[in-house]
Amino acid sequence: MNENLTTDRETFVTHLECSITGERYEADQLHGLSRAGRPLLVRYDLDAVRSAISRDTIEARPTDLWRWRELLPVRQTSNIVSLGEIETPLVPIPKSGGPNVLVKDEGRLPTGSFKARGLVMAVAMAKELGVEKIAMPTNGNAGAALAAYATRCGIETIVLCPDDTPEINVREIAMQGARVWRVNGLIDDCGAIVGKGAAEGRWFDFSTLKEPYRIEGKKTMGLELAAQFGWKLPDAIFYPTGGGTGLIGMWKAFDELEQLGWIGSERPKMFAVQASGCAPIVRAFEAGEEHAERWEDASTVAAGIRVPKAVGDFLILRAVRESGGQALAVGDPAILKAVEAAAKQDGLLLCPEGGATLAAYQQALNTGLVDEDDRVVLFNCATGLKYPMPEAPQALDRTQAIDFDAL
Ligand SMILES: *Cc1c(COP(=O)(O)O)cnc(C)c1O
Repeated sequence: MNENLTTDRETFVTHLECSITGERYEADQLHGLSRAGRPLLVRYDLDAVRSAISRDTIEARPTDLWRWRELLPVRQTSNIVSLGEIETPLVPIPKSGGPNVLVKDEGRLPTGSFKARGLVMAVAMAKELGVEKIAMPTNGNAGAALAAYATRCGIETIVLCPDDTPEINVREIAMQGARVWRVNGLIDDCGAIVGKGAAEGRWFDFSTLKEPYRIEGKKTMGLELAAQFGWKLPDAIFYPTGGGTGLIGMWKAFDELEQLGWIGSERPKMFAVQASGCAPIVRAFEAGEEHAERWEDASTVAAGIRVPKAVGDFLILRAVRESGGQALAVGDPAILKAVEAAAKQDGLLLCPEGGATLAAYQQALNTGLVDEDDRVVLFNCATGLKYPMPEAPQALDRTQAIDFDAL
């Protein structure tokens, strides 16, 4: 086990707070949404964190997710079920992206996606607070991460996914010990069933942002970026946005780091990237709305961002606007072209959602929202190996004469 995990440290959590009304909630109790029906945010005694540790303390530790222990909510280290949450690399893609474009490759995390960051935290907190049964709607990767971590610590899980969820996701969820059901609907239809069961007291609802701790796990993407960039931040971040947990989490991380005095007040432009076939945040951004209406008949190859309605819509929109960024939609053909370009030109296999960020970056470059000198980070949120790829059907018959010129 990593040495960051060997000693019990007190957490610096003071309370939780409703993201819309600011109403205060006690720490160390099980919470879902706030009374206003909105996500709860975890608050810390950052003055105490500042006195306890410094940037040097962090830098002296192994680089994994648990180096940020004091900025995370788990009280008892024994409640953490780790599968090896490494710091993910920033991979240049000079040919398909450009000289200043780095891909944060989250496909290297346990269960092959950045859902591991959120779920390792949420499951540890569920364990700490005595939860025995969890249900969750998923487009695939979140269910897989939940299954892995919950099974590992003996929490029962029921996972509902749309019936056209990539086959490999459904199978990995089942293989990692959850009971998985395909539902003839979209993720919010699955969420409605989960919510009904939770209201009947059958299980705890682990939907995106309906429990407070996934954001804290996803926040580590922002903490990591700060450390990887030498305590400055990149100029722009392109984030494939479904429920928006990661974008909201990173925005929160930057704020906490500034309050600690570890970074300055400059922020990256945050670009929320969606698929044209499911772009509720983009529509609301363009209309100047604070909340986003449900997107009807959602459809895209990028399953992870096929989220017709997000509970944290206003938090995503707020962060994007405050940052001077934008919400951008890209079509499926552009997404698939970007995936192919990164793979064939730079040898990096992106997931379709990651491809969407590359396509959106190219769009932003063409329309002058960013320029070539900007240091840009694109998020590749899952390993490309989980998704269908074009066929490669050529075969050689070794018993016949080989036409070497044709190879
Ligand atoms: C879940 C997921 C997303 C969207 O992440 P959010 O933080 O929920 O917006 C993007 N890409 C992939 C591969 C995902 O699994």
